[in-house]
Amino acid sequence: MTDWDHQKSLELYSVDRWSAGFFSVNECGHVVVQPRGERGPTIDLLGLVKDLEQRGLRTPLLVRFSDILASCVEGLSDVFRCAIDEYEYQGCYRGVYPIKVNQQRHVVEEIVQFGGQAGVGLEVGSRPELLIALAILETPGALMVCNGFKDRAYVETALLAQRLGRTPLIVVDRINDLELIIKTSRELGIRPHVGLRARLSTQGTGRWVESSGRQAKFGLSPAEIVQAVERLRGEDMLGCLELLHFHIGSQITAIRAHKEALREISRIYVGLYTLGAHGLKLLDVGGGLGVDYDGSKTDFHSSANYSAQEYANDVVSAIQVACDEADVPHPDIVSESGRAMVAHHSVLIFDVIGADQMLTGCRPSPAADDEHRVLQDLAEVRTGVDGENLQEAYHDAVQLRDEATSLFALGYLDLPGRAKADHLFLHCCEEILRIVRTLDVVPEDLARLERDLADTYFGNFSLFQSAPDHWAIKQLFPVMPIHRLDEEPTRRAILADLTCDSDGRMDRFIDRDDIKQVLELHSYDNRPYYLGVFLVGAYQEILGDLHNLFGDTDAVHVRLDDEGGGYQVEHVVEGDEVSEVLSYVQYDRGTLVERVRRTIERALRRGDISLEESALLRKRYEQGLHEYTYLSRDD
Ligand SMILES: *Cc1c(COP(=O)(O)O)cnc(C)c1O
Repeated sequence: MTDWDHQKSLELYSVDRWSAGFFSVNECGHVVVQPRGERGPTIDLLGLVKDLEQRGLRTPLLVRFSDILASCVEGLSDVFRCAIDEYEYQGCYRGVYPIKVNQQRHVVEEIVQFGGQAGVGLEVGSRPELLIALAILETPGALMVCNGFKDRAYVETALLAQRLGRTPLIVVDRINDLELIIKTSRELGIRPHVGLRARLSTQGTGRWVESSGRQAKFGLSPAEIVQAVERLRGEDMLGCLELLHFHIGSQITAIRAHKEALREISRIYVGLYTLGAHGLKLLDVGGGLGVDYDGSKTDFHSSANYSAQEYANDVVSAIQVACDEADVPHPDIVSESGRAMVAHHSVLIFDVIGADQMLTGCRPSPAADDEHRVLQDLAEVRTGVDGENLQEAYHDAVQLRDEATSLFALGYLDLPGRAKADHLFLHCCEEILRIVRTLDVVPEDLARLERDLADTYFGNFSLFQSAPDHWAIKQLFPVMPIHRLDEEPTRRAILADLTCDSDGRMDRFIDRDDIKQVLELHSYDNRPYYLGVFLVGAYQEILGDLHNLFGDTDAVHVRLDDEGGGYQVEHVVEGDEVSEVLSYVQYDRGTLVERVRRTIERALRRGDISLEESALLRKRYEQGLHEYTYLSRDD
């Protein structure tokens, strides 16, 4: 055993850099959750998983920590309150949560609950989301910002919500929305709260650059904004214009992009006010507040080079400066930071179901004198590897391996000979890699050895269901074992999921400075080995799909007990069973069972299957339809 300990694991997986204080590793080598931050109570994640398994929950398992959600929701209001105090800004902060980031009822309800004190409202981007907000948001005075494509039903519903004492702000996302709003409100006799969404010339940075800029899908150009003002004035409705909005895109990695956008939007705000829109009182800066998934604090696309506080300071000061210059009253500030509110609170836990370990560490038997020359040469390369000739040895080994492959194809080497050549080649590489790992500077052609020789660990999960952005937009999430962290992880691996899709794998991992192509893992010995994918609370659940018919995972909410120590498990949401995912693609359980039953009957009559076998098959089939779509460990 080496002198490995949990501290080394903390460092290896950069936990302190991405965890925002919510996760750490204890001396037993288990990940602990600190839902109320570093000084608060802790939950041993492995203990929790075992506990949940005893309650009948299964891996893959999504665990949501309500207290982390509360911390993030409150934290966002706090940074704005701080900035407002510091700059002696005259308006206040009114956050809204964009439902699309995670629409799960329990999540939205908790955000409304935790944000009650700070008056957190909701942002909706479609009619279905509007219907959620209308039912769920009861916080007095909280805003309901209504974005997205609108039809008459959408606008009517939003307007009528005012009669229930709600505060819907109907945002003109495209100039055509305006006529619909004017007409509908006149017919209902309800004066609307209107918002305008501006299309900025500033572009974001990172993956979503196209959410803003002149080609953006939503938003009014300066000419359209002026046109809207005149149209509203003509209808005697200019007083209804209360909010100016923009959204620069999600996961803005560089603070510079926010600063530029804020300067532009503040100038538009002041310009609107100067045009006579004196009902304006809200400036909505949209979403985009980045989450530092890899902990690098850079403008790399899974990170952000600024903190929430810096962002809030920039928002407040940019608006203040522009308003003060033009003698315009400070508006209340609205932000729609979804990702930053919910990313941290969910963790996906899955178990490893097997591993292909490339390097075995055991020596091949030496090549005998009567074996093929190519094998003897390979064995010689292997013994001759040293720090001085790494590249040469590697090139020789590659050449000999290729030669062995051709010899085999031409019939000059038999199958065992070919197998031995592969084995010897791997052994050369293993020896070279052992030395390469000690080097500060690695020659380019040897740099890929680590990846080429990596193990494949198979995880009981579907990437497409549970972390689709890793596949779709190459986003990185922190991934690490949740136990055995007091033990040195001696293997280097990539992760493969259960789907039959070669894209269903993770082979890019967060690292201190760059991206790692392999993840350090512990040697797999068939005992339960659990990995966690962290920071998956934003966007992943709803973007997930049913590739290979792997369905929703089990999910739970875990909340700390008020009187010290323990936790409570709330809102257990069972994942899909097989018959449910089959019904999404129009297979009816009853019909399937009936058809299989009839086929079995015929086989029985022909004598092709015994009664016992037929009973077992029927049992398996019928039970199978009720089972979890993921693998279960045979206990
Ligand atoms: C998606 C979206 C958001 C959320 O953005 P985050 O980057 O998750 O904070 C906010 N506002 C609008 C209009 C959106 O479309």
